[in-house]
Amino acid sequence: MRAAESFISAYGRVPTVRWTAPGRVNLIGEHTDYNDGFVLPFALPHDIVAAAAKVPNPVWTVVSEGVDERVTFTVDDLEPGKVEGWAAYVAGVVWALREAGHEIGGADLALASDVPVGSGLSSSAALECSVMGALCELYGVALDEETGPKLAQRAENAYVGAPTGILDQSASIRCREGHALFLDCRTGEAEHVPFDLAAHGLSVLIIDTRAPHRHVDGEYAARRADCEKAAEALGLRALRDLTLDGLDGALARLDGDVARRRVRHVVTENQRVLHTVGLLRAGIEPHRLGELLTESHASMRDDYEITVGEVDLAASAAVEAGAYGARMTGGGFGGCVIALCETARSAEIAAAVHKAFVDAGYTPPATFPAVASAGSRVLG
Ligand code: ADP
Ligand code: MG
Repeated sequence: MRAAESFISAYGRVPTVRWTAPGRVNLIGEHTDYNDGFVLPFALPHDIVAAAAKVPNPVWTVVSEGVDERVTFTVDDLEPGKVEGWAAYVAGVVWALREAGHEIGGADLALASDVPVGSGLSSSAALECSVMGALCELYGVALDEETGPKLAQRAENAYVGAPTGILDQSASIRCREGHALFLDCRTGEAEHVPFDLAAHGLSVLIIDTRAPHRHVDGEYAARRADCEKAAEALGLRALRDLTLDGLDGALARLDGDVARRRVRHVVTENQRVLHTVGLLRAGIEPHRLGELLTESHASMRDDYEITVGEVDLAASAAVEAGAYGARMTGGGFGGCVIALCETARSAEIAAAVHKAFVDAGYTPPATFPAVASAGSRVLG
């Protein structure tokens, strides 16, 4: 109800629509989305709720709980670069919807979030998808489950200017409770893979390292460019088209150690997603699942070079304390680590990671369990 309350206090009337969209954890498959590869996210119970009501003119006003600013924009601002800062995500959604021919009119909006910002749990996609859902509900627009993520991604890529792949928005819109979303980022095809850890006495512990993101946008764009260049050099449409069998031959044809390591990460990471899906389909075998997470972390650390000291420490301390495996989740350069734990041991593992951070002189992390939750939807 927080979004409705903040709507009432901002606009002096009640909202007509409330739409929720969750943050997500990517179980495995990092930096594979923009290589046309595979990802395996699940939605979190943490969400952003957008409360909204129509206004008669094509004018949009937005407030967000905890942000001391009310932003208004008009049709003249619906061009990339016109609205900046956090409200660019909102303007970007209005812009992307209207560019695609949907008749979205004016609205007042109020947002309330419990998705940590900038931690790699995708508050940006939760924001885009909650706003998109609320606006579409207000104006009677129905988007299918592949179009919604694409338009939200377009808002982030072309309006906000962050060159992210389709993972986050797909997760926020398409995930289902108790399932992970196995997504083929080339075809848009998805499978909802049962992911009921509690039934096996297991949980995923999220360790938010709170490490400040360093150079995140520039490094992300650089990795993406490295991959596109390598695919071109290999004569491939995307690195997705390279399989493990062809990897050694392809690496021998690439110039430079950096290009080789980037390609090796993407190819082995896609393979790890496929392995993980196979394991989940067969029932959960925690040792092997944990190994895949830890292998993914090593690949991000050594080959893709997107980790930082805090996330490396969180992952290694969790495993040393008894987690089956651990990896950074999200785009990198800070953010969160997930650790697969026996539920009975997760408090002990969280305490060990906390101690390791204090010993290393880092700010202690926040820890909380990740429960596979529902995707974006209207609230009553
Ligand atoms: P992540 O998606 O991993 O949380 P990003 O850098 O992609 O990190 O997106 C974070 C940005 O999204 C913030 O800097 C802000 O502009 C916007 N944002 C996220 N949550 C909110 C919110 N509740 N209110 C306003 N803006 C938000
Ligand atoms: Mg984001």
